Amino acid sequence: MNDVRTAAHTAAPSVPADVPVLPRGAVSGWRLVVTAVPARARDVRDLDGRWLAPGARAAFPAGALVLAVDTHQAPRRWTITALRTTQDGLGEVGRWERRSPLGRREITALRTLLAPDATRHTVRVLAEPNRAPADCHACGAPLSVDEGLAYRTPAGHVITCRPCPVPAAGVNPAAGRCARCSGWVTTGEGLLVPAPGEPGRYRPAHRACPDEPLPGPPLRAATWCVECRTTVPAGTGYWHRGPHHAPGHCALPADGLPRWSVRVPARESSDWAPGQVRRIRHTPQAGEPLLPEGLPGGRILADTGYMTVLAHVLDTRTTGGGATLALIRAATWREAAPLLAAELDQALATRPDGGTFLAREVVERICGDRGWVAEITGHDLRHGLSREFLCPQTDYDQADACGYHGVLDAWTLRPRRVYEVSRPVGPPAKNWRAVRSRLGRGARVTAEHRAFVRVTAEGDIVEITEEEVQAWLAAALEWMS
Ligand SMILES: [Zn+2]
Ligand SMILES: [Zn+2]
Ligand SMILES: [Zn+2]
Repeated sequence: MNDVRTAAHTAAPSVPADVPVLPRGAVSGWRLVVTAVPARARDVRDLDGRWLAPGARAAFPAGALVLAVDTHQAPRRWTITALRTTQDGLGEVGRWERRSPLGRREITALRTLLAPDATRHTVRVLAEPNRAPADCHACGAPLSVDEGLAYRTPAGHVITCRPCPVPAAGVNPAAGRCARCSGWVTTGEGLLVPAPGEPGRYRPAHRACPDEPLPGPPLRAATWCVECRTTVPAGTGYWHRGPHHAPGHCALPADGLPRWSVRVPARESSDWAPGQVRRIRHTPQAGEPLLPEGLPGGRILADTGYMTVLAHVLDTRTTGGGATLALIRAATWREAAPLLAAELDQALATRPDGGTFLAREVVERICGDRGWVAEITGHDLRHGLSREFLCPQTDYDQADACGYHGVLDAWTLRPRRVYEVSRPVGPPAKNWRAVRSRLGRGARVTAEHRAFVRVTAEGDIVEITEEEVQAWLAAALEWMS
């Protein structure tokens, strides 16, 4: 049975035709391809068939019966039209004007108009009327709602006016370079054309090549050009291993100062307003040049090219992933002067003096949590500062039997050094024994206090800020020599 149906269906020629649109003055209407009129049918609801949108374009089998019903107001009346496919499209075969919807007389008429093989009729919708105003993709004519046709293609919906055909090879389903001008054609923007010199292959091509084709996909949002490090306005540049200005639109800034972009640490974004001058750390990416020497506040921190310099924030923007990026350039000496002066004051304040007293940092263990002391020895790419952890001397004299309390660790701190100290802060978590037994012997059960410290000339240990550590590290080599 199934084989017969398929054979009969493929044999029937199908005719593309436009389903009638609503006539002028109609307030509503519907279209139905009738496949069966059951013997007891009284009403439209009893008819079998497939509903179509007014104005759609579909392929109909020969002899298909299409029913169009339109409602008019004032006076209220119904226009009922029966259409049948001919070789040229849909032709009218019956028309009734009524004061009420479809009645018994029309149903009887439909039954006689119905082709004997109507139950096997299938309709393929080729295009739906456009749901929103658009321009014809082929000729560019502006189309209001329902005026054109929306074809489904691999590249999404393509809208044309009714007379314009969809190009035979179709629109380009994927973006790529134009076969004619090598400019970028975005998905669905152009056509597929035979690739020159490659028989049987197709390439995208512009419908009309632009005067200034872009060599890569266009940029939607404003961003910064990787060549000249100035802003590319939204919708003007292109992407090729980074954002670029359209060819010929790069304008190198006149100041000649190096520019680059950095990712702003999440918790610092408030301080990166354009116009700010701040010290930043910078590691050149692979293939990126080192910053020139002699920039204000510039210092090499490690052999890898890791360096620090004073930078002027030019612009910030937020990426799609929510990160904040800042476009910066090296600060001029005039811009850098206040910050350099403040850094010098800080360096003088932390300058190691002639003291020779050693100091003793003692930290008591709490419930087994112990502290540590590390000497800050320089800069580290991953952790910011490189640390050398020192071994403690441990005093068990006052310890309890389990070693939970009364155990003292002690370290000797020298002048002219900076250290970081971590110490446990009591009281411990209430159920600390349970926590320990669940998470293991190394689990922390107390809070931690961390601080940078140094030893004064009198042998006292004082806390210092991270900025003071940075200032001290910057000048340490000079003072130590
Ligand atoms: Zn057109
Ligand atoms: Zn082109
Ligand atoms: Zn540029």
